[in-house]
Amino acid sequence: MKKIIKEGIALFEAETNDKRVREIVENLIEQVKTDGDKALFELSEKFDKWSPENFRLSADALKEIISTVPEQVIEDIKFAQAQVRNFAQHQKDSMHDIEVETLPGVFLGHRNVPVNSVGCYIPGGRYPMVASAHMSVLTAKVAGVKRVVACTPPINGKIPAATIAAMAMAGADEIYILGGVQAIAAMALGTESIESVDMIVGPGNSYVAEAKRQLFGKIGIDLLAGPTETLVIADETSDAEICAVDLLGQAEHGPTSPSILLTNSEKLAYETIAEIERQLKVLPTADVASIAWKDYGQIILVDTIDEMVAEADRIASEHVQVMTADPRYFLENMTNYGALFLGKYTNVAYGDKVIGTNHTLPTKHGAKYTGGLWVGKFLKTCSYQEIRTPEASAMIGEYCSRLCEIENFYGHKEQADIRVRRYGSKEVEV
Ligand code: NAD
Repeated sequence: MKKIIKEGIALFEAETNDKRVREIVENLIEQVKTDGDKALFELSEKFDKWSPENFRLSADALKEIISTVPEQVIEDIKFAQAQVRNFAQHQKDSMHDIEVETLPGVFLGHRNVPVNSVGCYIPGGRYPMVASAHMSVLTAKVAGVKRVVACTPPINGKIPAATIAAMAMAGADEIYILGGVQAIAAMALGTESIESVDMIVGPGNSYVAEAKRQLFGKIGIDLLAGPTETLVIADETSDAEICAVDLLGQAEHGPTSPSILLTNSEKLAYETIAEIERQLKVLPTADVASIAWKDYGQIILVDTIDEMVAEADRIASEHVQVMTADPRYFLENMTNYGALFLGKYTNVAYGDKVIGTNHTLPTKHGAKYTGGLWVGKFLKTCSYQEIRTPEASAMIGEYCSRLCEIENFYGHKEQADIRVRRYGSKEVEV
């Protein structure tokens, strides 16, 4: 039976907030659509106190910014990018083009064709999200995207040098210091100084995620990757200190970032609450994490492992950290999660920053219908067909003709009939 040990706002119940965000974003997009660059300058100054001459960094400016980044940081970025590149390349290699002969003379196939141009949003309002550069830009490049545009906001009016270095090292073709809705709208709609792209990817706050949602259709998007969520699944074998660290480690993302503990051990639940209180006294980002934990943190107690699986699937969290006696049971049985982190030796921070899987993951129930960003999102699986003999054309044509007639599609039917007459030398029998 389910018991709530600590209540929090359920992940997806911020409906009023959503409505407010929707309206703000709609107005900002309209402003960029109408005023182009002029709107970008106004909004950038308003939200980010950022008024450069140009949002795009020149090759010289890039060189100068990168030269300020300490060598160890560059080395660490190189290591992380090597892991992301390696896994993305393995994933790409697993995606094969196919061509099969389904009937004598009938050949069907598909090709995985990279999107031509992609805009990567690298968030940075609160923290410099260096890792998002690897996840979006590098993955797009492994997929074969020709033009990769990357935007990131300044942080407190300053250029985030390590993020810019990571964007350049990942292979971005154009780099802009521009954030929020104005960046998403500029990449989607184009302005005098920014050429539009075909698809926009990457995580961001509620405004960024909502802008992607509203512009979808004009451009493609990867998924809605909004404020981070985490679910820790733990049993009596787990360590309360680690559970608390793993919950707060994600709550620090922002004041609306939910962290949930799901357990079948009441003892662990209460020990974790005590640990969280203790750790919040020393965590440097406790100002954010404590609000997130107070408002959105939850502890849910159930009786059995299978109830844990069912509850976790209902929550469909972005991150799911499993620290039970048999973590792989969850891999085998869970169906709704952005990414799984199995066992106490791994954790969400490894996945977020360095291990090699992509950290751009679905939030707000999105895990019910999609996984996270990966090379496959940048590839369009486009089908083709070829009939290589007149006999096959006439044979398919007879079926097609009768099926078109049922639908009253006489133009379609004629496409079939002419081929039956020409290549089969007969009329279609009704
Ligand atoms: P951000 O870059 O997403 O947003 C900063 C921008 O928001 C600013 O440039 C500004 O233009 C805009 N903005 C701020 N206040 C505004 C307002 N009142 N009205 C309109 N626009 C406004 O950076 P952030 O805010 O630090 O958020 C990053 C988010 O990304 C966090 O919520 C984090 O959890 C999330 N994230 C998600 C994933 C995922 O895969 N789901 C991964 C990494 C990060």
